[in-house]
Amino acid sequence: MEVYSFTKEDWENRLLAIGEPKFRAGQILEWLYKKRVSRWEDMTNLPSGLRDKLASEFPISPLEQIRVNGSADTTRKFLFRLTDGQMIESVLIPASPALYGEASDRRTICISSQVGCAYGCKFCASGLDGWKRNLTAGEIVSQFLRVEELGGEKINNIVFMGMGEPLANYDNLLRAIGILNAPWGIGLGARHMTVSTSGLVPRIRDLGAQPLQIRLAISLHGATDEVRTKIMPVNKKHPLADLLDACGDYVRRKKQKITFEYILIRDLNDSSEQARLLASHARKLNAKINLIPYNTVEGLPWERPAEACQEEFLSTVRRGGADATLRREKGHDIAAACGQLRLQVEKSFAHTPPLN
Ligand code: SF4
Repeated sequence: MEVYSFTKEDWENRLLAIGEPKFRAGQILEWLYKKRVSRWEDMTNLPSGLRDKLASEFPISPLEQIRVNGSADTTRKFLFRLTDGQMIESVLIPASPALYGEASDRRTICISSQVGCAYGCKFCASGLDGWKRNLTAGEIVSQFLRVEELGGEKINNIVFMGMGEPLANYDNLLRAIGILNAPWGIGLGARHMTVSTSGLVPRIRDLGAQPLQIRLAISLHGATDEVRTKIMPVNKKHPLADLLDACGDYVRRKKQKITFEYILIRDLNDSSEQARLLASHARKLNAKINLIPYNTVEGLPWERPAEACQEEFLSTVRRGGADATLRREKGHDIAAACGQLRLQVEKSFAHTPPLN
């Protein structure tokens, strides 16, 4: 297990096992997460013999940056190579008064949780090549550290909406969230972390049973089983009624709002009937709805509805008593939904060689 997967307790146990005092764990964590030092030889308050031992047993390998796309005031995508050669991407979304209000200084990272994805949503590029492997907790945490370092600004919001289904990598995700949240780790409040899922009902219940106040977003994209199953195979295993029931439990336990992400796809899920049903689902759970006009992708058959239809859908949802927004700015669509993210950012690399 690599260095950034270790909790404080892991370090204490490992130090004790090699005859070192436990308090060294606190010193190591301070170097790694507060001072952001990634070379053992620079951790000057550790005895040099211990530094040598740690360097040989626990090599630190920060994520290797392959490419970055975008500039400081826009959304930036970072492409990283992992130690086994697999590629992942992370996205940094700058503060956006237009999106979050004038006073917002929210700087968000969108983090990947797997290489590829097994869930095969029909609108998503992440699933096209299937699932390759889960990321380790350290690879998840490292995305935060490297993007903050490369972006040069503090990040204060995390969305697990990058490549992969985060709840399908539940144990590593939870371990990573623990490290990101811990005072000895990154120290970011759980309320500033959102896990976005395609609807893995048992894991939603597990997440709800966790004490941390992690936010939940559901990639819904259909208000009936018939429509949802057309584009999200996961719906066959976990139908809408079960999903909404698990969401209800989550809301009751956490006493917080969840979000429904809904990509608007022409002639598929943009009817007024779907809008009415979507509003009804959301109203019952007091959920917020994010409507995201689909971004057309070469090779996939879907199209975005005309603007007037998008507006009409929004009005119908609002008339149905639900709290809904429609993302109009292209630059921010990137953070909008599980799967659409990768589609969009890959288009921006259209003139560079394939990733692997
Ligand atoms: S939308 Fe999310 S769950 Fe579906 S295939 Fe893409 S990454 Fe996987």
